[in-house]
Amino acid sequence: LPALATCSHQLSGYVPHRFHHRAPGRGKRLVLSRMFQPQNLREDQVLSLEGRSGELTCKSQRLMLQVGLIHPASSGCYHLLPYTVRAMEKLVRVIDQEMQAIGGQKVNMPSLSPAELWRATSRWDSMGKELLKLRDRHGKEYCLGPTHEEAITALIASQQTLSYRQLPLLLYQVTRKFRDEPRPRFGLLRGREFYMKDMYTFDSSPEAAQQTYSLVCDAYSSLFDRLGLQCVKVQADVGSIGGTMSHEFQLPVDVGEDRLAVCSGCGFSANMETLDLSPTNCPACQGPLTKTKGIEVGHTFYLGTKYSSIFSAQFTNVHGKPSLAEMGCYGLGVTRILAAVIEALATEDCIRWPGLLAPYQVCLISPKKGSKEEAATELTGHLYDHITEAVPQLRGEVLLDDRTHLTIGNRLKDANKFGYPFVIIAGKRALDDPAHFEVWCQNTGEVVFLTREGVLELL
Ligand code: ATP
Ligand code: MG
Ligand code: MG
Ligand code: MG
Repeated sequence: LPALATCSHQLSGYVPHRFHHRAPGRGKRLVLSRMFQPQNLREDQVLSLEGRSGELTCKSQRLMLQVGLIHPASSGCYHLLPYTVRAMEKLVRVIDQEMQAIGGQKVNMPSLSPAELWRATSRWDSMGKELLKLRDRHGKEYCLGPTHEEAITALIASQQTLSYRQLPLLLYQVTRKFRDEPRPRFGLLRGREFYMKDMYTFDSSPEAAQQTYSLVCDAYSSLFDRLGLQCVKVQADVGSIGGTMSHEFQLPVDVGEDRLAVCSGCGFSANMETLDLSPTNCPACQGPLTKTKGIEVGHTFYLGTKYSSIFSAQFTNVHGKPSLAEMGCYGLGVTRILAAVIEALATEDCIRWPGLLAPYQVCLISPKKGSKEEAATELTGHLYDHITEAVPQLRGEVLLDDRTHLTIGNRLKDANKFGYPFVIIAGKRALDDPAHFEVWCQNTGEVVFLTREGVLELL
C-alpha cells in the first residue's frame, strides 16, 4: 500500500503543465492553443497534402483537410485527427443506442480473415481486386475484412447449442473495413480503409426474419432522424453480398455517386441501377419520377439462407430438430456519414454539424491580448467555469479559444468555419454592467447578446 501511495503520488504530481489553463479549485479548461489541429490551410496547401496524384474532389474533403479534421496517409487512407475522433465516438454512441434498443449485441471480429472462409462462398475470387489479400509467415492466405458475413456465419455455425428460444439474434460491430477501391476519392466518402457498422441477424423463419429486417430499417430511419439528415430509403441491388431483398439509405446531395429515382405520388423510390431502363414514369403508379444523386450511407440485405446453408449455421427448432438460420445483414458507413453530414449541412466555407455530432458544443473567445480588456479575459474564464458547472452535459464540450495574439474577428472566422454550435465572445459589452456576451448560434444563424445567466439558460 505505501508503495502504491508513493506511486500514485508521483503520478498525480506529473502535471502536463500548460496543457490546460487551471483556475484554482476549479475543473480543467480546455484551450484551443493546445489542440492538435493543423488549421487554416489554403486550398493549394491542402492540395499538396493529398500528394502528387491527389485531387480535391468534394467539399467535405476540402473542408476536413483545411480545418485539420483529417490528414492524408496514403491513397484512400486518412489519419483521423482529434476532432474527428470525437465526432465519430459521438456517432458510434448514437448508433449503439439505436442498435441496442432493438436488441443488438456488440461484438468485435478480427480484420484478418482466413481465405478458406472466402473460398467456401466463392467470394475469394468473385470479389475480385477489391479484396486486399496477404500471407502470413507460414504462407497461409488471408484478406483484410471488407465485410463479415463469412466470419459471423462461421461463428454461429460453431455454436452447438443455439436454440430457437435465443432467436432473433442481432450481432453488430463497428470496425475498420478494407476495400481496394479502384478509385478512392472524395476523402472519407470513399476510402480504402474506413469504419463501418455492420449488423448480422439470425432468425428462425422467413417471416421472423422479415420482421427483424423492418425493425433494423426503422432503427436506421430513427438514427438519421436524430442526426437531422433527410435520407431516403430506396430499393437496391444485392450486389456481391447477395440475398433476395435489399434497401439503401441514401442522402440526396450532388456529390453522391448513386442515381436515384423517387416518385412523389406513391412514394416509390429506387436506385436507378435496379431499374432496367431509365424510366420517366413511376413503375408503380405511372406518375412522373424525380431523379436525384445520392450518397449511400446505409445498406440492408435480407439474405435468407445463402450463408447459413454454406456454413451450416443451424439452431434447434421447436421440434428439437436442426434448422438453418434465416439471415440479414445491415451496413452503415460510419466515416462516410461524418463526411456526408458535411456535404449536406456545410456551406462552401463553413462546416455545420448535427448537434449530436459536433466535436465540441461551445467555443469561447476571449479578447485580444494587450487591449484594455484583461478583465474581460477573466470574465470569459469565469463564464467557462460557470457553464461547465451549471450544465453537466457540457463538461468536456467547451473550448476556450485562448489564441489572444489574434483578433476576436479572426478567431470568430475560424470558429464559424469550424461550426461549433455555439460561439460566445467576450467583446466590449462584456465589461458593461451587467456584462453581455455575444452569442452566435451557428445552427440557427442567430446572434444574440446575453448576460451570464442568459447564456446558461440558452445552453
Ligand atoms: P458503394 O456502392 O458506395 O461502393 P457498397 O455498396 O460497396 O458502397 P456496402 O457493401 O453496401 O457498400 O457496405 C455498407 C456501407 O459501407 C455502405 O452503405 C457505405 O455507407 C459504406 N462504405 C462502403 N464502401 C465504402 C468506402 N469505400 N468508404 C467509406 N464507406 C464505405
Ligand atoms: Mg463498393
Ligand atoms: Mg452501392
Ligand atoms: Mg451497398
